[in-house]
Amino acid sequence: MDLPRIFTIRESGHRIHNPLTAAKLAALGDALHLAPGTRVLDLASGSGEMLCTWARDHGITGTGVDISTVFTAQARARAVELGVADRVEFVHGDAAGHVADHPADLAACVGATWIGGGVAGTAELLGRSLRPAGLMLIGEPYWRRTPPDEQTATDCHAGAIADFLPLPELLEQFQELGYDVVEMMLADQDSWDRYAAAQWLTMRRWLDRNPDDDLADEVRQELATEPARYARATREYLGWGVFALMRR
Ligand code: SAH
Repeated sequence: MDLPRIFTIRESGHRIHNPLTAAKLAALGDALHLAPGTRVLDLASGSGEMLCTWARDHGITGTGVDISTVFTAQARARAVELGVADRVEFVHGDAAGHVADHPADLAACVGATWIGGGVAGTAELLGRSLRPAGLMLIGEPYWRRTPPDEQTATDCHAGAIADFLPLPELLEQFQELGYDVVEMMLADQDSWDRYAAAQWLTMRRWLDRNPDDDLADEVRQELATEPARYARATREYLGWGVFALMRR
């Protein structure tokens, strides 16, 4: 059980595996007015940057669950580096169906709503770990501009145009599911670049170090096509945000 290695090659230089910068992640933590001791559950916690920096900056405690052994190891190391290893723990495991033993004050799934089969299922899953009136965070793509055709959607790594909604409709979807949307932090094109463009140098350096690796041809091919694809599709059409929700 692990994340395919191609992801950890592309994103080995990333602490945040989504299109928010460290500054945006910090601003979101500030905006939520987290009280010291807030208990956070983070499903698909990646390299743990949200839990670790919020533990340092706001005194939260928390548990992250992620299927990647590489990212989970990075998260544990980051907790030690930031001096918060006594407040956050990282569990290697499948977050699909994961329910906390003790209800959390804040339950998050940032950039992995497939673990619940989509936004509705992920909200339901997080809700099972959340105390009444707790905060939920969902990180999810939306169409910044609706793609003109299905090919453009595919080029954004969506399965189809129908996979995502424009921002107003996504906010309405949360409302229709029974949640107040109480905050949001959106990526912009510059912060998208920090996520996407930053992978190119990581891939190139990895190629230089690993020319004979089984994945070298795939990475070489990707590096040749990815910048233009990204500029043509994702950067123009795909928005991304973290949405803070509270059950009505
Ligand atoms: N929330 C983190 C990581 C987002 S990237 C951040 O924003 O930085 C998506 C993450 O989902 C990856 O870390 C990947 O390993 C994890 N993931 C994918 N499928 C998963 C599953 N079934 N259970 C737990 N984690 C999963």
